[in-house]
Amino acid sequence: MMQYFEWNLPNDGNLWKQLKEDASHLHEIGVTAVWIPPAYKADEQQDEGYATYDLYDLGEFDQKGTVRTKYGTKEELKEMIDELHKNHISVYLDVVLNHKAGGDFTEKFIVVEVDPNDRTQALGKPFEIQGWTGYSFHGRKDKYSDFKWHWYHFSGTGFDDAKKRSGIFQIQGEGKAWSEGVDNENGNYDFLLCNDIDLDHPEVVTELNRWGKWVSKELNLDGMRLDAIKHINDQFIKHFLEAVRAERGDRFYAVGEYWKNDKESLDEYLAQVEYQVDLFDVPLHYHMFQASQKGRDFDLSTLIEGTLVADHPDLAVTFVDNHDSQKNSSLESQVKDWFKPMAYGLILLMKEGYPCIFYGDYYGVKGKKSPHRLILDILLDARRRYAFGEQHNYFDHPNTVGFTRTGDTEHPGSGLALLISNGEDGHKTMAVGQHHRGEYWYEITGNRKEEVMIDEKGEGTFPVSGGKLAVWVKR
Ligand code: CA
Repeated sequence: MMQYFEWNLPNDGNLWKQLKEDASHLHEIGVTAVWIPPAYKADEQQDEGYATYDLYDLGEFDQKGTVRTKYGTKEELKEMIDELHKNHISVYLDVVLNHKAGGDFTEKFIVVEVDPNDRTQALGKPFEIQGWTGYSFHGRKDKYSDFKWHWYHFSGTGFDDAKKRSGIFQIQGEGKAWSEGVDNENGNYDFLLCNDIDLDHPEVVTELNRWGKWVSKELNLDGMRLDAIKHINDQFIKHFLEAVRAERGDRFYAVGEYWKNDKESLDEYLAQVEYQVDLFDVPLHYHMFQASQKGRDFDLSTLIEGTLVADHPDLAVTFVDNHDSQKNSSLESQVKDWFKPMAYGLILLMKEGYPCIFYGDYYGVKGKKSPHRLILDILLDARRRYAFGEQHNYFDHPNTVGFTRTGDTEHPGSGLALLISNGEDGHKTMAVGQHHRGEYWYEITGNRKEEVMIDEKGEGTFPVSGGKLAVWVKR
């Protein structure tokens, strides 16, 4: 999978066109699915799409001062998706169901302000607020849906226009409460920002399920990346996916963003949604982030311990960085450059997990070319040619670890040995399988020049340079 955007793309409306033109190249390098950014109208044209205004406006209507979104028009979006499908690439839309921004008018209603660090604690008595919770979607004129959002469709809001004051304001009224089935950080983590959608309100549930089916059909989607699910009732997500899959088929793909470096929370979430959604492997990302920070002081033998991919290999989307972890983003935890070849070697060549490549790592950020594209092309090529068969792990040393893939009969000449070092030059004797005995292997990233012979037992002693990645394959 490739995440085809980064946080600093220019607001030029060109992304859909660029992706369309890139479709055949992506197919050639082995990309089989693309995660595209939120494609619907946000509160302003330059927004990345997460400040969602109108889910039904895919760059079609003159709203918020623009027809197109940051990434282009609906027509360009559809043409791009057609082109990706022609190249056998699936399309996953980024779906933001936690909140809405850019209300059209203010409404008056009763709230209590809550403690940001414990949202179950009121900071005072209920009072009347003026919030930007009214949505009329003038420019769309009821096309696709005549649903109008009001204050009672939300559980909280972040701004009182009467007093021009920000805070966390919990909306009061019959049946109003923070949702259950959300993360328990800060007492209850239902509220993230803007107008928090009340996913326990029956009208909201009906309308969003309807939208999910509509957008999947309208854009011929193959799956979704679900934003901010830590702040969304887990049962809503489960039923939402059931509704969409009832129309699109059981193979309709879903991966959720549960941003927490705590595998227990991820385990619990997976159980609550009955394993119907993949999750990004956030613990693995943080292990790689820490490894890149600590250098030789990081114990590489723990690199995949306690990660999602280690325990739920079929449900883990492995990634190195994304638009939130990259520099100057909200969850900044960017893996340092020296470690990126190792991080990508690990996720692209290991047997388990569904690897996701970040646009910024392949193409670069802020229009500046990425230093990692060459190594990524080498690793993507290695994934297609050699990364087959069983995996044998050698996470047995604090500074030099590795694994082998034995290869399989369907892919003649396949099989590989991967090593990473965060300290001195090292080497490791690893088994690649007796069927490889007598072969000479060489290193494909260019870090080592010698050859390694595979012995009678099917083992080789593979070197790796200090602070580098080595990938060995049959010459
Ligand atoms: Ca929420």
